[in-house]
Amino acid sequence: MKTSRITYAIISMLAGIFLLVSAGCSVGLPDTGASVSTDGQKLKVYFLDVGQGASQLLVTPSGKTMLIDAGNNDKEQVMLDYMKKYRISKLDVVIGTHPDADHIGGLDKVVDQIPVETIYMPKVQSNTKTFESLLTSIKKKGLKVKTAKAGISWDLDEQVHVDMLAPTRSYDDSNNMSAVVKVTYGHNSFLLTGDAEKESEKDMIASGADLRADVLLVGHHGSNSSTTLNFLKKVNPKYAVIQVGEGNTYGHPKSAILSRLQKQGVEIYRNDKQGTIEVASDGTTIHISTER
Ligand SMILES: [Zn+2]
Repeated sequence: MKTSRITYAIISMLAGIFLLVSAGCSVGLPDTGASVSTDGQKLKVYFLDVGQGASQLLVTPSGKTMLIDAGNNDKEQVMLDYMKKYRISKLDVVIGTHPDADHIGGLDKVVDQIPVETIYMPKVQSNTKTFESLLTSIKKKGLKVKTAKAGISWDLDEQVHVDMLAPTRSYDDSNNMSAVVKVTYGHNSFLLTGDAEKESEKDMIASGADLRADVLLVGHHGSNSSTTLNFLKKVNPKYAVIQVGEGNTYGHPKSAILSRLQKQGVEIYRNDKQGTIEVASDGTTIHISTER
């Protein structure tokens, strides 16, 4: 009896001390005007090396996952290998930015093999085999495609927020229909642009959306069609990633785009030179590591 009473007394005392300490902590913190408490946990954004094509895999601090694009048709097995490597047993969100094969080619097999919660694609028709094969996989899974468009937003994680910034309207050109998302974690943000071209960039600026981001996925593999100076200045990134394959026939990335990025003081990373690029954020600091 006596022991348990003493134990109780000790526990209450400890609880009291804990309360005092935690109250002291919150009072003592300087008010920065932002509520960021990420406990050093990391959001990881992998710019997967899929040769000439694009694919980004995001894993949040609590293990939520998002896959944007999946490279070309010949990268189906490569994509499944990446899913294995990064231990992805479920995808909370999948985005097919637009129907071009170098973005959605490998996506049908991923949808076949990995459970998917939600899938977004822009409202654009295509009669290619690649597109139809993806639609078949989606249908087989009993999934319904949600329309990707500006204005949609969701929390991927308690602390990771996603805003879809494009397409802001309909375009005849499929690249401009690209879903563009901004992912924010604490003070860090990523702008993932698909193959959006200058028309979409102009409309994103006109929409008044906050485009600023620490990391920019350079639009359309570094083609002259994208990354206008106006857009680049609005985004004002520290780092840029270019998803390109070695010796691609398009001449991507274009030298004009590379020098535009360099003139703005942006540090450039490329899949063709460095393999897969892993960007980790703890909500305050960004750390980049490359495969080679
Ligand atoms: Zn592309």
